[in-house]
Amino acid sequence: MVAHRDKAAKGARRLVVLGERRGRAPGRVWLVGAGPGDPELLTIKALRVLQGADVVVHDGLVPAEILDLAPPAARRISVAKRKSRHSYAQDEINRMLVAFARDGLEVVRLKGGDPFIFGRGGEELEACRAAGVECGVVPGVTAALAAGAAAGAPLTHRGAAQAVTFVTGHAATGEAPDLDWPSLARANQTVVIYMGLSTSGLIAERLIAAGRADATPALIVVDASRANEQRIITTLGGLAQAAEGLDGPALLLLGEAMALAQVDAAGLAGYEGAELEAKA
Ligand code: SAH
Repeated sequence: MVAHRDKAAKGARRLVVLGERRGRAPGRVWLVGAGPGDPELLTIKALRVLQGADVVVHDGLVPAEILDLAPPAARRISVAKRKSRHSYAQDEINRMLVAFARDGLEVVRLKGGDPFIFGRGGEELEACRAAGVECGVVPGVTAALAAGAAAGAPLTHRGAAQAVTFVTGHAATGEAPDLDWPSLARANQTVVIYMGLSTSGLIAERLIAAGRADATPALIVVDASRANEQRIITTLGGLAQAAEGLDGPALLLLGEAMALAQVDAAGLAGYEGAELEAKA
């Protein structure tokens, strides 16, 4: 560990020397959360950092309206996973970030939601640290928060949800994710499942087998905070059927507090509603 740190420090000194030799400061990497999609959910800090970018390395969840906020001259590189084309492996991305920063560039690694929630931001931060590259983190609104807000369903709620847990539903094809089912099956807590659309049936089965009630309220939100957002209210028992045919980034939210969820935007103050009120 100490050796690791010494190596990083040596690397950092080398970088400073290099930067001075070139007459410019060494570059930097920013891990920036772009939020769930709605550009208005970007933080002011994310916007400021983005506006100072020389290069933006982004994943597929970041919409064009947000990428447009970077300077026109900034280079944009998509490292989105593609079925038909070469996808970047995580260590290629790590090397790219470090190399750009060593070239003296202000590098923005822009990710959907928050960089540290199922975003592999931790690995990128470690790579920067190991290379002696300065790295800052700008948190973002993670999809779970946008999904709850969109449906008017609080993730914690007095008497109904004393805890909220974010888990990944990702698993090898045909397999259930490896999760702590007995703990997730306890009542009075909200479980938010990222990447769980295709495993929703197996997840529901495991939770019910572990004792969570069949009738536990459940909510599916696809494309939270975007114009094409979809909300589906169901129960744990009905989850798999409700998820059928859905496509796009989606969250499954389970728990007693999801009984407050509303499908229809009527009765919920969206941005438009808020604007009208402000104008009146
Ligand atoms: N770092 C991101 C999560 C990346 S993992 C965050 O903090 O939100 C990718 C998964 O996130 C998707 O498969 C989906 O489950 C979820 N997700 C991301 N954006 C979403 C959105 N706008 N609506 C619903 N789910 C979303």
